[in-house]
Amino acid sequence: MKRKRVGVIGGGQLAWMMGEAAHSLGIELIVQTPNQDDPAVSRAADVIFAPLNDAAATAKLATLCDVITFENEFIDLEALRALAGQRVDFRPSLDALSPLLDKYEQRLYLQQIGLSVPQFTSLSPETARQSPSNFPVVLKSRRHGYDGQGTFILKNRQDWENIWKSLQPGDMLVEEFVPFEKELAVIAARNDVGEVVVYPVVETYQENQVCRRVIAPADITVKVKQKVEAIANTLLTQLQFVGVVGIELFLTGDEKVLVNEIAPRTHNSGHYTLDGCNISQFEMQLRAVSDLPLISPTFKSAGTVMINLLGYEYACDDYYSKRIQLSSIERAYVHWYGKTKSRPGRKLGHVTVLLGEDELQQAGQIADKIESIWYC
Ligand code: ADP
Repeated sequence: MKRKRVGVIGGGQLAWMMGEAAHSLGIELIVQTPNQDDPAVSRAADVIFAPLNDAAATAKLATLCDVITFENEFIDLEALRALAGQRVDFRPSLDALSPLLDKYEQRLYLQQIGLSVPQFTSLSPETARQSPSNFPVVLKSRRHGYDGQGTFILKNRQDWENIWKSLQPGDMLVEEFVPFEKELAVIAARNDVGEVVVYPVVETYQENQVCRRVIAPADITVKVKQKVEAIANTLLTQLQFVGVVGIELFLTGDEKVLVNEIAPRTHNSGHYTLDGCNISQFEMQLRAVSDLPLISPTFKSAGTVMINLLGYEYACDDYYSKRIQLSSIERAYVHWYGKTKSRPGRKLGHVTVLLGEDELQQAGQIADKIESIWYC
């Protein structure tokens, strides 16, 4: 059965981008999101204004759609469990989401299915302040971290002492700092009949733990590419996952691939697929959750570079003239999420530039040019 009305928990830019794909597939999106000015409100057929963890609102959402999917994992899983089975079909299922929502449990699960992860341990509020013996370490909130919020790279004991002055005690994860050679990411999808597709592996660049740019494809060996694809296949199959996942990875100098994080939804590292591939990650998610066949993803050009337009000030500005300037760059596509308020680090939009064969080596310079216009 094809699903014509898809409910989405979360109404940020990911749901907004899914809205365009929905339109072209003839699918209506019904969105659960808290605010009138959330990006996806403008592209939804209907909206339930409620926090994402409001299960009563999700019960109402369920009456308006054929299937419910997610653009955000900040949900109340236990409250949703009470709804599952009562005419509500979640895709991915709540069982598939369950091991992924808490970063510590996610690491345990990945280890259990045989995937390599950085060495890690949990910290309870009681044991939190005991300093590790080796530095650097990475301290992470187990839940609700995003865009580097809740992730702290601590170089020494002094950093460790200092961080606890500003942190609320809570459950945290502490892990080894991985001296990676590259950060990689990949988008993959699976549908209900078990078809799996894996997008090209990309390289991501973070500054202060926030993604600045993505170069697709990553410049890696065939062996590394195959390792990443095998990770994606194992994960989706083990979880019996239906939908799209974003997988973030570390590549070390000796060609080991460690999984850093799984996002059980579309992901910033896959935004390049909108303009750069024959099928975007957003259409892929809708196909996967609506029982449509998946399409094998390929590049439209030799590659792409995607640059996030991050807020750099507190302002209410639509940055119109900068956007016009950016869109005049050859083969550049500007996506503006329509957020009304800017603050430092907030993702306001992104630009994708399609690259010819002879431009792949210049992706970094092209990204520099875009950033010099945006951050000037
Ligand atoms: P978030 O969920 O906020 O995106 P991540 O766990 O993805 O947090 O971390 C954000 C960034 O911090 C990563 O992309 C990477 O650059 C850096 N980072 C996170 N964990 C480690 C680690 N164990 N070793 C080295 N760098 C790390």
